[in-house]
Amino acid sequence: MEARAKCVEDWELVRQALRRDMNEGSFASWIDPLSFEQLDDGTVTLAAPSKFIRDSVESMHGAQIKSLWRSLDTDVRRVAFAVRVGETPQRGAERPNLRLVDGSTSETFESLAPNGAPPLKPITPDAQYSFDNFVVGRPNEFAFKAAWRASEDWSNQFNPVFLYGPSGLGKTHLLHAIARRRQELHPDQRVLFISAESFLVGFVAAVRGNATFRFKEMFRDVEMLLVDDVHQIVGKNYTQAEFLYIFNYLTEQGKQIILSSDRCPTDLEGMDERLRTRLGSGLVADLHPTDFDLRRRILETRTHDAVAKTPDLEVDPKVVDFLAQRIASDVRTLGGALNRLFSFASITKSPATVEMAQRQLQDLLRYTDRKISVEEIQRRVAERYGIRLADMLSHRRARVVARPRQIAMYLCKTLTQKSLPEIGRRFHRDHTTVMHAVKRVTELRSTDSVFDEDVEALRRNLEG
Ligand code: ADP
Ligand code: MG
Repeated sequence: MEARAKCVEDWELVRQALRRDMNEGSFASWIDPLSFEQLDDGTVTLAAPSKFIRDSVESMHGAQIKSLWRSLDTDVRRVAFAVRVGETPQRGAERPNLRLVDGSTSETFESLAPNGAPPLKPITPDAQYSFDNFVVGRPNEFAFKAAWRASEDWSNQFNPVFLYGPSGLGKTHLLHAIARRRQELHPDQRVLFISAESFLVGFVAAVRGNATFRFKEMFRDVEMLLVDDVHQIVGKNYTQAEFLYIFNYLTEQGKQIILSSDRCPTDLEGMDERLRTRLGSGLVADLHPTDFDLRRRILETRTHDAVAKTPDLEVDPKVVDFLAQRIASDVRTLGGALNRLFSFASITKSPATVEMAQRQLQDLLRYTDRKISVEEIQRRVAERYGIRLADMLSHRRARVVARPRQIAMYLCKTLTQKSLPEIGRRFHRDHTTVMHAVKRVTELRSTDSVFDEDVEALRRNLEG
C-alpha cells in the first residue's frame, strides 16, 4: 500500500512537471484524463479512457513521462499505457467513447490512404474567389478589411481571425482570397486551407488507423491555417480536443489561423469551453445580410461580366433593380437567380427583362411579394418619426416632416412597383418631387451612416 502511495505521489509530481512544460489545452486534453494504475516489475501502467488518448499520449509524451518518472524512481524501466474504456477520468468526466461522439457518420469515413497518411483534403484556393471580385459594401466591409489584413500581415497581429455570418454571404470566398493572396505574397510559406469537415473526417480516420501522430504532422510546417465552417465540429469532442491541440501548437509559434463559422464564437454551444474562448480571442468580424445597395452592385458587376462574355446577351437595366429588391439577401441565391435568367434569355434568344424575371424566377422572388402598400409605408414612417399621417400629405416644409416624407417616397419607389407619377399622386405631389426625394435619400444614405441605418431598419421592418 505504501509503495502504491509513493507511486501515486510520483505520478502527481510527473504531472506537475508536464504541466509546467505544456500549454493548458494540451495538458487538459492529454495528461489530465490519465490515471495511475499500477507499478509491477519495473513497469508503470497509466490508464487512458480511450485508445485515441492512449495513442496520442504515448506517441507525444511517452518518452518524456518515462524519463521524468525515472528521475524520481530508478526502479522504473518502462511506462505502459492501457485503455480503460468507461472508467471515469480524474477530471472533466464526460468524455464519451469516440464511436458515440462522432456517432452516426463515423461509418462512412474513409480509411487510411495507401501511404498511411490520414485523408485530409486541402482546398485549393480558387482564382474565381479573389479579393478583386469581392464586392464590398457596408454589410461586409469590416470582414473584408479583416480578411485583407490577415492575408498580408504576417506579424499576425490578430490571431485567430474569425469570420462569421449566415450562409451565402461570402465567408468561403474570403477564405479563398486570403489563402491565395498570402501564397502570392509569400510563395515560400505553407498555407493549408481545409474545411472543418475534412478535418473531422481525416482525424477520425487517423484515430482508427492509429495514425494520429501522422495526422498532427500534417500541421507541423504550416504558416497559415484556414478552416472553413468550424461550427461543423461542434459536439465532436475528440475532434475538438485535437483541433484545440493543433490550434495551440500553431498560435504559440505565431502562425496565423483564419476561421469561418455560421455563428459567433460565443454562440458555438456544445463546443469545448476552452476552444470557444480561444476562437474568439483574436479578431472577430461578422458578415451582415446584404442591403439593397450591395445587392444592386453585385448584380451590376455580374451583369456586366455576363454581357462582356456573351455578346448576344441583352439585359434590360431595370432587371438589376428589380432583383436587388425582390431576391433574398444571400449572394449565392442572388447569383443563381441571375444565371438562370441569363441562361433562359440566351436559349430563347430574347432580352432579359423584368417580365421574364417575374415569370422565370417565381420560386426565388421574395415571398414579400406580399404587396407592401403606399399607405403602409406612409403609416410606418410617420410612426417612426412621430409625425401625423396627415403630414405625409400636407405641404408643410419643416424638416421634421419633409424628411420623413422623402423617406416614405423613397421606400415606395424601392419597395413597390408603383411608378413615380403614381407615387406622387398618393403624396399629393408630382413625379419630379418624388424623383428629387429618391435622389436626396440615396445621397444621404451614402454619406450619413446613422440615417442609412434608420432607413434600412424601416425597410427591413416593412419587408417583414
Ligand atoms: P458562405 O461561405 O458565406 O456561405 P460563399 O463564400 O460560398 O458564402 O459565397 C456564396 C457565393 O456568393 C459565392 O459564389 C461567392 O463568390 C459569392 N459572393 C458572396 N459575397 C460576395 C461579394 N461580396 N461579392 C461577390 N461575390 C460574392
Ligand atoms: Mg461557405
